Amino acid sequence: MKRVINLCKKVFSKNANKKTKTTKVVSTLEQPIVLSRSQHPVSRQLLSPSALKVLYRLNKGGYDAYLVGGGVRDILLGLKPKDFDIATNATPDEIKGLFRNCRLIGRRFRLAHIVFGREIIEVATFRGHHDSASEQEQSCTKTSKQSEHGMLLRDNIYGTIEEDAERRDFTINALYYSTKDFKVYDFANGVKDVEDKVIRLIGDPETRYREDPVRMLRAIRFATKLDMEISPETRAPIKELSALMANIPAARMFEEFLKLFISGKAVANYKQLRSYNLFTYFFPAVEQELNKNDQLLERFIMLAMQNTDNRINNEQRVTPAFLFAAMLWYPLQKYIHQININNQLAPQDAFFAALSEIMPEQQRSIAIPKRFQGVMKDIWILQDKLARREGKRAFKTFEHPKFRAGYDFLLLRAEIESTPTLIELAQWWTDFQIVSNDARVQMIKGVKTSPSGKRRSPRKRKKPTASSNNPSAE
Ligand code: ATP
Ligand code: MG
Repeated sequence: MKRVINLCKKVFSKNANKKTKTTKVVSTLEQPIVLSRSQHPVSRQLLSPSALKVLYRLNKGGYDAYLVGGGVRDILLGLKPKDFDIATNATPDEIKGLFRNCRLIGRRFRLAHIVFGREIIEVATFRGHHDSASEQEQSCTKTSKQSEHGMLLRDNIYGTIEEDAERRDFTINALYYSTKDFKVYDFANGVKDVEDKVIRLIGDPETRYREDPVRMLRAIRFATKLDMEISPETRAPIKELSALMANIPAARMFEEFLKLFISGKAVANYKQLRSYNLFTYFFPAVEQELNKNDQLLERFIMLAMQNTDNRINNEQRVTPAFLFAAMLWYPLQKYIHQININNQLAPQDAFFAALSEIMPEQQRSIAIPKRFQGVMKDIWILQDKLARREGKRAFKTFEHPKFRAGYDFLLLRAEIESTPTLIELAQWWTDFQIVSNDARVQMIKGVKTSPSGKRRSPRKRKKPTASSNNPSAE
């Protein structure tokens, strides 16, 4: 690692020297800065064997192939790349012809995934210009398409490496490494921006955001992840253009949610997203409540995000369902309260009525997969179950498959709300988990039957039906 950092320093100081001597060592898209093997820290040992295999096979097949994006950028920064992306002049079909383990994916942006067990190497054909009516476009209108807002609905015009560099989002992501000559090609002064820690869009920021509004999220994500600053001209249009986010499909928003919130940087990303008016496109109901200055809600979601960050940074498992459940918990309580203002519904009916309003509304922003929706509901239902400990109930709840998530959620609530009832309940369950079985029986005996001292009337059991959406129904 030390060697890598020193090498980086060497490269950067060389570049800095070059700048002062020649005043104008900037790359242009036609004339990239080329760093030879001794001028950069990227080496084959730092690439995964699968990435190397793909690069070699493409080269052997007669194609150009480069490691690009995060793979090069992160190595320059002395970090371990999360994954390896490759750019080539081979078309998707030609790539498929070379690899048996290849899947072609994406309509908007056609890509090849080369699958090696759990590792996927993403291979993209060089993108070309879509605004000039190219031959490809004339011969096939399905390759490129733009919406009325300037959004690229399809971007499948192929081109040269220079054009490809221009179509990439940020300067730091337009660095290409070749295993043929071991050189790094910098088409947009990305090495200097890596050195200066600047996130800068390639081209006109407004046009680039209009083409793909997700770039606004990516700017924030890279800034927090890499501890960089977004350059003033890249930052300037974001707030004004934030409404473009409404055009992003909910499925893509789910992927972006994972990258922003299940990455160890949820708190930092949340703060940035809010400051640029972007958070509302993930959680409109939450934003609405936050704008009413709901301190309890804000403290609660901050704590949930902080916990998620801590767990990820300690390499512990997390489920996105927990964060979704936390985001929507207080808005859900509000819905329940509004629906049941005259207490005419049984609590459980009010809960399901509120659920059937809040979930479809949330789904319009983020397509939360069914399996996570199930866990969210489990966590919420467990809050009620955890409060009822009489008889055999505590033991049953303890055996619930999502007990741990429900208990963790209860701890958060107790910490934020700090009511004696919740604090006592959280402590009770903490103790219950560590004592002997006999002691558990004694603990249950010691529980007051309900907060008001009265035993609740037994619930009528509904026969479970096939359409029942209660995930905790046994
Ligand atoms: P990481 O994988 O660490 O999150 P990355 O830079 O590799 O970062 P990816 O999402 O894997 O990001 O994308 C790989 C590369 O593809 C990027 O570096 C960038 O060059 C290009 N790219 C990805 N998304 C876009 C986009 N929306 N617009 C333009 N270029 C993009
Ligand atoms: Mg990547």
